[in-house]
Amino acid sequence: FLKGKTALITGSTSGIGLAYAQALAAEGANVVINGFGDADEIEKERAGLAAKSGAEAIYINTDLTTAQGCEELMQGAFDKFGAVDILINNAGMQHVAPIEDFPPEKWDKIIALNLSSSFHTCRLAVPKMKEKGWGRIIMTASAHSLTASPYKAAYVSAKHALAGLTKTIALELAQENITANCISPGYVWTPLVENQIPDTMKARNMTREQVINEVMLEREPTKKFSQPEDLGALAVFLCRDVAANITGTNISCDGGWTAQ
Ligand code: NAD
Repeated sequence: FLKGKTALITGSTSGIGLAYAQALAAEGANVVINGFGDADEIEKERAGLAAKSGAEAIYINTDLTTAQGCEELMQGAFDKFGAVDILINNAGMQHVAPIEDFPPEKWDKIIALNLSSSFHTCRLAVPKMKEKGWGRIIMTASAHSLTASPYKAAYVSAKHALAGLTKTIALELAQENITANCISPGYVWTPLVENQIPDTMKARNMTREQVINEVMLEREPTKKFSQPEDLGALAVFLCRDVAANITGTNISCDGGWTAQ
């Protein structure tokens, strides 16, 4: 049902972003992917997306910690497809340290990537969405947009602010047939998470099961990870006509974490 539409997903060379791209491509959308990684791997993913959609898939490699990088990404998409109909701001990074040791340059980078890049992509995408009279803006926020954990000052601040930005945009665009929503995962089973298990087993002298249940899923009452595909399906739903009146909201997919 997305044939003829173009979706741009930031940070989509791996994990959740790639799952969004796959889900939207499966509905026939053109996709623009972005992010870092091995060039051959990325080309394989890009070709796979094009094959899946029967439409076009392009990769634009820009660093979204700068306004210029965001502008180059959006311009590249406009040059190829004319507009971006579905914008998913997903690129993000983490740094864990107590406030007194938190490196100021890490703070700046995380605010730039996890928050400011979304401001830039939105301000550039919106005029064309308005022209076309249709648009979907989705942010990957986090359970940390609604609640905090110690030692994640920059991440928690950026994600809370991202939820505020989303509400603001939703109100501004309420009568334009453009919705803006957050998807807020708890723990998602990505290679990034899986690869942390062996080190944590060693560091804490725990079994794999203990690491998963007592460390990772400590705050998730269901004791289950979300899968990247779950979030892909949620994004597809938000693009449907039946979701046209869902805007300015923050949809949790966190096993009950933020219900506590
Ligand atoms: P990931 O590390 O697998 O993916 C991050 C993506 O962002 C990659 O494609 C990476 O190349 C890209 N990226 C990193 N720095 C960039 C930069 N400067 N410019 C452009 N792209 C850049 O992580 P993920 O787990 O898939 O996370 C995706 C989003 O989901 C993030 O915003 C993260 O905060 C959020 N999230 C993840 C989880 C989880 O459990 N994995 C939970 C809640 C929220």
